[in-house]
Amino acid sequence: MLKKELKVQTALDLLYVFPYKYIDRSRFYKISEIEDTETYVQIIGEFVDWQIVGTGHGQRLSAHFSDGKDVIEVVWFKGVQYLKLQKGVKYILFGKPSYYNRAYNIVHPDLELLSKVNIETRRGLEPHYNTSGEMKAGWLNSKAMRKIMEVLMPDLKKGIPDTLPLSLREHYHLMDLTQSLVNIHFPSDQAHLRKARERLKFEELFYIQLQILRQMKRREQQYVGFPMPRVGQAFNDFYFHHLPFPLTNAQKRVVKEIQTDLRSGKQMNRLLQGDVGSGKTLVALLCALLAKDNGFQTCIMAPTEILANQHMQTLSDLLKNTRTRVELLTGTTPKKQREQLHSALLTGKVDILVGTHALIEDTVQFANLGLVIVDEQHRFGVAQRAKLWEKNINPPHVLVMTATPIPRTLAMTVYGDLSVSVIDELPPGRKPIQTLHYTNLRRDGINRFIRQQIQTGRQIYVVYPLIEENKKMDLVDLENGYRYMCEHFPDCKVSMVHGKMKSKEKDLHMQAFARGETQILVATTVIEVGVNVPNASVMIVENAERFGLSQLHQLRGRVGRGADQSYCILLTRVELSKDTRKRMDIMVATNDGFRIAEADLQLRGPGDLEGTQQSGLPFDLKIASLSTDGQMLEIARHAAADILEEDPELTMDKNALYKAQLNKLKQRTVDWGLIS
Ligand code: ADP
Ligand code: MG
Repeated sequence: MLKKELKVQTALDLLYVFPYKYIDRSRFYKISEIEDTETYVQIIGEFVDWQIVGTGHGQRLSAHFSDGKDVIEVVWFKGVQYLKLQKGVKYILFGKPSYYNRAYNIVHPDLELLSKVNIETRRGLEPHYNTSGEMKAGWLNSKAMRKIMEVLMPDLKKGIPDTLPLSLREHYHLMDLTQSLVNIHFPSDQAHLRKARERLKFEELFYIQLQILRQMKRREQQYVGFPMPRVGQAFNDFYFHHLPFPLTNAQKRVVKEIQTDLRSGKQMNRLLQGDVGSGKTLVALLCALLAKDNGFQTCIMAPTEILANQHMQTLSDLLKNTRTRVELLTGTTPKKQREQLHSALLTGKVDILVGTHALIEDTVQFANLGLVIVDEQHRFGVAQRAKLWEKNINPPHVLVMTATPIPRTLAMTVYGDLSVSVIDELPPGRKPIQTLHYTNLRRDGINRFIRQQIQTGRQIYVVYPLIEENKKMDLVDLENGYRYMCEHFPDCKVSMVHGKMKSKEKDLHMQAFARGETQILVATTVIEVGVNVPNASVMIVENAERFGLSQLHQLRGRVGRGADQSYCILLTRVELSKDTRKRMDIMVATNDGFRIAEADLQLRGPGDLEGTQQSGLPFDLKIASLSTDGQMLEIARHAAADILEEDPELTMDKNALYKAQLNKLKQRTVDWGLIS
């Protein structure tokens, strides 16, 4: 069971199953000191009386426990028949208070006879372990885990080989591994626990950084980047004759940064961050033109078909009357056309290929692919990028564009091998979007507002959340919403778009809205990224409580693209959890994508982002957290960089331990994958 549930194979693995919390069992409480239902308490006292109350399922044992001064109720719902309470005997009672009928009571406490416990040895913090339902069913609860750990301690205390060399530990003041493992399970006090956690976190982050940075160095050495030194006809012709508006300073700076990379002879891996509407598409096009001037093709990938279509539209408009040829390839391109396209790509007639992310899985071959641009993909990790390299003899240059700013910790890990450019300026004349949060009770007022906006010629988005587990319900929500809008706005035309639609139909509706033929677009989050309709000035998000911050910010970015004042209206139910309220408040308070990304990471916490598979981290995190350990991550990165600086391949004797440990970690990741 340990193997299956915790992916544990050896005793050492077991020691790496860390407690998720500790309870101080050195302190004893008086009943009068109980003041919340969060803190476990430990009380010495006697039972005054007890009785069985109720019958059948509702049956319970209710007892009164006295500390000599006050009395508290203690209740058992289960196992009543096994309980043998004694009067006139002192117990240590341990449990978490609950609050019921305006008084504290304790349900299912642990009981020990005071005479059997040596209080002097009852020091320090008691570890508690997360256990799965399966494990509990097999009696492997937190207490059992604690017992197992206790059994392992004597052997552990004899000492195990450290996984970090002494020199590094000394330099960063880290506890040794044996002590850390002892103290993470059975800390003698808070200070020791802190040191133990610090060491174990550092180690995790350090090896991740060592791995990422080593790969990066290797790649730099192994692959020559395609040299693209020339600025030629394609770029200049477009820049001087077809550019629809002057570039913002930020766009200019970023193009220069990319150009420097393309010229360098090294393979570019660059992340381009720019808030929604900052004009990343144009930057992408300029880079593609540079590639063309140097005899290379470019492939631009978008996460959805709608978006790919839209890029195609934008780019072919921009490239009208130029000699640059752009083509579209998606999952729905007909076979015949597809074949023609394949051969046009191979003969080099196509300069820019636009498509969905599926392009990397596809069998398309290029004559000379030199640049890959990935648009709007938050989770385009190291592994996916590696796939691209098979498309040409050398890996093409890679530019990943994202509107969701990536918090520093992620930039250093999941995207740890990318250099970063930022467009920190919006095109001139944009008015900041006004964000408002209302509850469903305010619908009438909102409808009046929508009507008024439509009368001035603006268009409206209405977006419904999409929850994967329940696609049917989503659709019902959406269709009800569609009907509602049709009923309440009888003189308006309403479009509807959702993921289940045939892509042709989807496109038809999108295009109708984009051309201003319909005034309202009711949609699921398929429009979350990238869609560009400058005349749309109102974004209404239904059930906004079901969206995360980054998503809300993305959605909001669909408006505010023209010169008009735009609005984002977040509609929620009346009762909101604390976190949801915070999310709404942040959205209302700021338009700054970076602040939102940081807040998002804080609110969502580690669970969502960490875990190798989704995030693309080389190893799992067991104890460190990308949301709270940013500072340590930074230190660990420096430490790793220093080592690789001197010894990129870790071949020196003094670095042998690092190399061995990296191999072991990789091994482990693989093995575990096979088991689960
Ligand atoms: P995003 O960065 O979100 O992908 P887009 O590339 O879609 O942004 O650009 C948003 C809008 O801004 C588009 O309508 C585009 O034509 C316009 N735009 C881009 N660059 C400029 C500029 N330098 N000046 C004025 N408008 C611009
Ligand atoms: Mg875009």
